[in-house]
Amino acid sequence: MAKCLSSALDAASWASWIEEMQLAEYDYRCEVCSKVKTIKRPIGDDLDRVPYCDGCTIPMARIYTANPVHFKGKGWGGDK
Ligand SMILES: [Zn+2]
Repeated sequence: MAKCLSSALDAASWASWIEEMQLAEYDYRCEVCSKVKTIKRPIGDDLDRVPYCDGCTIPMARIYTANPVHFKGKGWGGDK
């Protein structure tokens, strides 16, 4: 979906609009190179916004660390 790509933000955009907001840490993983990135973002933020992998320049998939389920059934992967 094009919406997924257009809603991804670069590092500078994150930094500017998360200031003074309550933050939570979310982990994302690149499904191509398996690189993991931890992003701080506001609680209640739009979780459709995802970071890009630095190397592969594709949207990364969120890792649900607090709730150990697999990615299947959530629409992650394959759609790029
Ligand atoms: Zn990657």
